[in-house]
Amino acid sequence: MKALAIDLGGTHATCGLVDDRRIVAHEILETSAKSLGAVLPRIADIFRKIVQDTGLPLREISGVAVGIAAIVDSHASRVLATNEKYVDACGIDLPGWSRDQFSLPLRIENDARMALLGEVYAGAACGFEDVVMMTLGTGIGGAAMIEGKLLRGRHFQAGCLGGHLPVAFTGRQCTCGAIGCAEAEASGWALPGIAKDWPGIVTSTLATYANIGFKELFDGASAGDRVALDIRDRCLQVWAADAVGLVHAYDPEMLVIGGGLMKSADVILPAIELYVHQHSWTPWGKPQVRAAELGNNANGNHTNESPRLHSFYGRVGMRANCLTVVSSTITLAA
Ligand SMILES: [Zn+2]
Repeated sequence: MKALAIDLGGTHATCGLVDDRRIVAHEILETSAKSLGAVLPRIADIFRKIVQDTGLPLREISGVAVGIAAIVDSHASRVLATNEKYVDACGIDLPGWSRDQFSLPLRIENDARMALLGEVYAGAACGFEDVVMMTLGTGIGGAAMIEGKLLRGRHFQAGCLGGHLPVAFTGRQCTCGAIGCAEAEASGWALPGIAKDWPGIVTSTLATYANIGFKELFDGASAGDRVALDIRDRCLQVWAADAVGLVHAYDPEMLVIGGGLMKSADVILPAIELYVHQHSWTPWGKPQVRAAELGNNANGNHTNESPRLHSFYGRVGMRANCLTVVSSTITLAA
């Protein structure tokens, strides 16, 4: 099955043409704007170019698949709610856009659910039916599969708000309206504020950065910066506590962790695994904790490569994840 696929991430949109598990062509565009409407014409141009370059007739393409960090009605292919990014998405008729532009049907799903489907379809959770996904990045995404069925719920919110489980009810205000969500306590968007308020931040190398990201944090921690170590360790605890919440909520055999932060999987994965195994009430045994295989994580397979190539693998992996997943979702939904 061939499909046009879009992964609408926090800072980038990946557009591609997929043929089952194979990516035929792809392109990434930066999406610094908060508006989806502003990005759609560029996406349409990229798709037209990809289709033209590959010489594939549109009639051989089954549809357009969209993954987005939002609450999504996947039956009606509508975005129901967004959080800060793509704020106009709820008012956009995406299936109508796809019909007008390409005469193709369009399906849309929450991006973490896409990632979970991909991992079950072709990644770390292949062959498993009870799986929870966590994606760590600009935000924290979640998704759950129980007895082989992707959890969506009556209002399409079930399982996908894993980043908004409160881990500190007297903690930081979250953009979702709640207080002390895992995402408010340890995510890419929250990190600059967390660092700014951290006691002793002025003594840290982190204070020299205009905008602190997790790369700066993990680099600082590796270099022995005390404040960076403390903030990093608290983030690890937040993610681990969130993971225990997800294990208790959804009873998975396996927890798959993906997202951009898994470039530091060597630190993150063992910390979460240890905490989950120590603190989860799972009398049947211990849930497996694995890194996403299709995601933009560096899982150590390419450690002999140069950093540049390493990062290239990471990006290709991300594309593979999102686009393969999108393709598999269309397959599942067809
Ligand atoms: Zn929240």
